[in-house]
Amino acid sequence: MPNTSQEIPFNVPYVTGRELGYLEQVIESGHFAGNGPFTKKAERLLEQRYDVPHVLLTHSCTGALELSALLLGLTPDDEVIVPSYTFVSTAAAFLRTGARIVFAEVKPPTMNIDVDDVERKLSPRTRAIVPVHYGGIGADMDRLALLASRSGAVLVEDAAQGLEARIDDRWLGSIAPLGTTSFHETKNIHSGLGGALFLNDSSLFEKAEDIWERGTNRAKLFKGLVDKYTWVELGSSFYPSELQAAFLYAQLESIDENLAERLALYGRYDELLRPMEGDGAFELPEVPSSRILNGHTYYLVANSIADADRIRIGLKERHINAYIGYVPLHSSPMGASLGYEPSNLPVTEEYAQRVLRLPLHNAMTVDDVDLVALSISEVLAS
Ligand SMILES: *Cc1c(COP(=O)(O)O)cnc(C)c1O
Repeated sequence: MPNTSQEIPFNVPYVTGRELGYLEQVIESGHFAGNGPFTKKAERLLEQRYDVPHVLLTHSCTGALELSALLLGLTPDDEVIVPSYTFVSTAAAFLRTGARIVFAEVKPPTMNIDVDDVERKLSPRTRAIVPVHYGGIGADMDRLALLASRSGAVLVEDAAQGLEARIDDRWLGSIAPLGTTSFHETKNIHSGLGGALFLNDSSLFEKAEDIWERGTNRAKLFKGLVDKYTWVELGSSFYPSELQAAFLYAQLESIDENLAERLALYGRYDELLRPMEGDGAFELPEVPSSRILNGHTYYLVANSIADADRIRIGLKERHINAYIGYVPLHSSPMGASLGYEPSNLPVTEEYAQRVLRLPLHNAMTVDDVDLVALSISEVLAS
């Protein structure tokens, strides 16, 4: 067994060292509450970098998804198709409006939404489809866009794991009319908690901004368009404080460096693990050449549930923290209360227990990756 006296954590949140300087500027300015200079600067940077007409910073990706659900004006007569294999917010944000959540299967080994299953589950009531770009690998947006336009549904991207990744020259989060991303500390760049809504459809912007401003037209007051502000929509408190926006701005300025480091680690994993996949040790996601990655995560799909447990526990004994993926939402207690049974989505149910996410973060070195790969081969051979 290699001598890993030091633990390799699953994630270490990224820090640039320049966050404090910007936080001091906020303290000196006396503007703390949000929608101030750093919020604006971060939004403009995101708009320019990802070629999106409007970006609104939010306190989380959860918030951006909730804002999307309010913006679409969903009702209990509507249905929203989401993968079961995702974080709870992808479903919960839409469930809040009373809409019915229709869970779709994923397609292993990428674990992105299974578009054939989406097609089967479309109904005259489908108002939204919410693909998740799992691990920063772009879902099949072209086919989803066709299905959406055929059924009159709106596509909302959950690009919480997809910032900086692309399908050809289209940035994840900027492809559908609405896109959401996360700046949670477990994502590539972060502000502790944080997120953003990308609005590709400019006609939605005014309403989105009112919802974002707690349902008031206060943003129009700042722009000199009205002389007092009032309640105009059902909204909520969706934006982050200036302290978070300033922290985020420092991270956004380092995004190229962050990405290069992560891609180097990702590339090393691939170099070492692809030959093991070739020997049948496990499966790795197929990444079509159109998908440009962001090094968010590296994961393998074990040959069996027992194998996944064996690898995870063997790594843990060597102080390496790998992490199982999501517990499917349809087989959760909430899923059961929505009328689902585990057997409704057999592919998701099986593969969710075979995914193993390996450590990948900016505090790691290529030597750490070598150690993880060596440890996996040892565990499998033992
Ligand atoms: C992290 C994540 C979220 C939630 O993001 P928050 O910013 O923590 O609300 C939603 N969806 C997916 C796919 C995620 O990975």
